[in-house]
Amino acid sequence: NDIVLSARDLNKHYPVGGGFFGSGARMVRAVDGVSLDIYERETFALVGESGCGKSTLGRVMLRLLEATSGTIRYRGQELTELNESGMRSLRKKLQIVFQDPYASLNPRMRIEEILSEPLRTHGYGSSEAIRERCAELLDMVGLRRQYLRNYPHQFSGGQRQRIGIARALANGPDFVVCDESVSALDVSIQAQVLNLLSDLQEELGLTYFFITHDLSVVRQFADRVGVMFLGRLVEVGRTEEIFAKPLHPYTMFLISAVPLADPRQRGREKLVLKGEIPSPMNLPSGCRFHTRCPFAKDICRVEDPAPQQRDGRMVACHFPLEG
Ligand code: SF4
Ligand code: MG
Repeated sequence: NDIVLSARDLNKHYPVGGGFFGSGARMVRAVDGVSLDIYERETFALVGESGCGKSTLGRVMLRLLEATSGTIRYRGQELTELNESGMRSLRKKLQIVFQDPYASLNPRMRIEEILSEPLRTHGYGSSEAIRERCAELLDMVGLRRQYLRNYPHQFSGGQRQRIGIARALANGPDFVVCDESVSALDVSIQAQVLNLLSDLQEELGLTYFFITHDLSVVRQFADRVGVMFLGRLVEVGRTEEIFAKPLHPYTMFLISAVPLADPRQRGREKLVLKGEIPSPMNLPSGCRFHTRCPFAKDICRVEDPAPQQRDGRMVACHFPLEG
């Protein structure tokens, strides 16, 4: 399959604290040297604990946030070189669905206004055409057309998330970042919204970049997984392979916390990480996981492990796990 989005050595570093003019300010390396290809029509899940830089990476890839350095190509087009108007025309193709639809839907706007806003911005057509498109968008996400007259507070959480999805679909996107898009929903509603996302993917040929901390959702829903730890991608591979045999010690800890579907394995112990997550402002030397890693050796404290290819996967560890 074609590559839709391609990141090379992406960095997003923020100064925090300190005084004026950066004196004494420290840098947070929210995204630190990330390289990644996302393929057409796949669901790529980005996982990791909160604060590891997942949302920042998602926003930098869409250029909703500017990268400090590195490149992002969308179907071969270098995004970081586009000016505002070039970016505006690509915006139709690059969309995001947020976690909390209530916070992202203006409570004073009717659903019709919420959905027509992106259509007007991109010169969709006449008022008639826009009204018809809004109704069609509600159909697509399984809501009744009559709801166009309603306000966000009149809907349930699941319905609001459907509206958030409809808004992202307005201009026919290609690549959609879903940032914890089902995390706030009850499990049964979550399943319905995930089914909707799969159906839409099939119908519209969408590519998803699915950010979540919930690995049981990832397991059902994602084709590939990227594991992030303190701004770094530490492992990338196919979902079944990652769950069957994690190569990075951190991945092993993350998936040990996921309830197992297979009852024969239910006795497996949940692994607990020792220590606190290090501060992103004060990263450990060498491998940034070494303060918590039970397999750390001397080299881990001094040398940052470079990403390597192994069994068709990427892993950044001096001592990847064996089966
Ligand atoms: Fe653990 Fe060393 Fe691998 Fe880091 S490089 S994850 S400390 S074994
Ligand atoms: Mg987040």
